[in-house]
Amino acid sequence: MNFKNKRVSRWQTLLTALLISFLLFGQTATAQTTALAPAKLSATENSLAEKISVSTIKEITAALAAPEMQGRGTMQPGGDKAANYIADRLQKLGLKPLGDKGTFLQKINFKETVFTPDTMFKVGDESYKFSNDYAFIPFSNDDQSISGEMVFIAYGIQAKSINRDDLEGIDVRGKIIVMLDGPPANIPKEAWEKNNAKFAILGSLVKNGVAGIVVVPHGREKDSNEMVIDYLSRRQISMSGEQSQSFPIPPLVMASGKAAEKLFAKSGTTFKDALKQAEENNFKPIKLNQSAKVVKKSKMTKGAGSNVVGYLEGSDASLKAEAVLFSAHYDAYGMENGKIYPGAADNALGVAEMLAVAEAYSKMETKPKRSMIFLAVTGEEYGLYGSKYWAKNPTWKIKQVAANLNLDGIGTEVYAPVKTFVGFGAEHSSLGAMLADVSGTFGIKVIPDPIPDEKIFYRSDHYSFVEKGVPALMLLGAPEGDPKKWIDRSKEWEKTDYHNIGDVIRNDWDWSGAKTVAVVMGIMGLRISDGATMPEWLTTSRFAKLERGNSKEIPEEK
Ligand SMILES: [Zn+2]
Repeated sequence: MNFKNKRVSRWQTLLTALLISFLLFGQTATAQTTALAPAKLSATENSLAEKISVSTIKEITAALAAPEMQGRGTMQPGGDKAANYIADRLQKLGLKPLGDKGTFLQKINFKETVFTPDTMFKVGDESYKFSNDYAFIPFSNDDQSISGEMVFIAYGIQAKSINRDDLEGIDVRGKIIVMLDGPPANIPKEAWEKNNAKFAILGSLVKNGVAGIVVVPHGREKDSNEMVIDYLSRRQISMSGEQSQSFPIPPLVMASGKAAEKLFAKSGTTFKDALKQAEENNFKPIKLNQSAKVVKKSKMTKGAGSNVVGYLEGSDASLKAEAVLFSAHYDAYGMENGKIYPGAADNALGVAEMLAVAEAYSKMETKPKRSMIFLAVTGEEYGLYGSKYWAKNPTWKIKQVAANLNLDGIGTEVYAPVKTFVGFGAEHSSLGAMLADVSGTFGIKVIPDPIPDEKIFYRSDHYSFVEKGVPALMLLGAPEGDPKKWIDRSKEWEKTDYHNIGDVIRNDWDWSGAKTVAVVMGIMGLRISDGATMPEWLTTSRFAKLERGNSKEIPEEK
């Protein structure tokens, strides 16, 4: 899953808003319970299920997560190696190439941006350590160099209604502002967001000429500053055609708790005490009596990566022009500073499950009526780039893409036998009822998105196809029982191993769950393939007016 850190993306959104005066805030998705409709599998479906091989899933997951694949980084040799491996597998299954010039690879030009050693956050004589103590909240790739006196302004709130002025008596021009990411504990988050408080605060700081902003933690963050700093300091990948915009926004530094403590060394108070004061409406700005220098310098390199795509031709003379599109991203965070990010659960496992489905179809005596496309995309972790690229440069007519089934895992399907499914996007199209129907035959319960706040529906590759009007579903398998149990486990894992060096294959993985995911996806693919008509958006969905291939504005979520 793509790491759209809510804190970072909100900063970015707000900053964009400041300059182009529009604001995008999502709201919680509504989910509906899908009723179980017990049914039976056909003989063909049963035989397909038998053809889905656990050993194929294990073998491919292990191969992709192996050290030789170096974390399958976009624009890195490990990524190319993984792409060739997947292409080779598709070819061996007898699939036809659907990439560039009769190959299985669709090349995408990327650029990589890394911060150079000149990058600096220096306070007095002490230089803080990039990626440990601080990182930059990305907005533009502009090199910047600023310095100034530091002043702590708590949350930067100026509101007569609560008799609070965090900037009282302070001229912020040319200063480096040290601040907290609101709201304070005594202001509800909803009210804060409804009033676009951060937008107003940032807008006023930028307008009044601050030299830079340093965000320090208050300790109630859902994602700690340290965790966000780890992400922000990794290499950044973007599409090579994407112009990085240049905006007159001062550098935004995110600092760790440890670094924050040192900022207060000469202030006459401690960081801890300053945090206490920050929660009071009578807070007054604190001069830190130290100046800082911030240098942001990055280096850009051009390169390329590839999607891998092949198809199995349908058996029906006319329906074979239409296709079911399976997708899973094969990239992980690659290799950086000697660390390998193996991405076993995210998403070697998803690719393996998808390829096990391809293998099963390839062994069917009578092939499905519509064609089956298997697309392993790159660049997902950095912004769904591979899927967006394919959607923009499709190698199959989008009008004839019946549906998309996507896999992008956090490994919940290997906790235990799969007895629960979440279909992200199920409430939007006829694929939801199909999932309930197929799952029902296995006694598997389909539940609505249990973590709508995470906005997972928008965070993986299927969404690139949704934007093109293709009904899509992302499948997530999980154990039986109270979802809270496995969600808690996955949240714990997210904190420690997700997108990190610990995302490896574990001995306690229950591979039967991975098979169940592949079986249910395979049978759904078969039903879509053989269906009289292509899947449709539900009239109740906000995507209802979208048509395949006709880009229309997607209405805001209600
Ligand atoms: Zn992922």
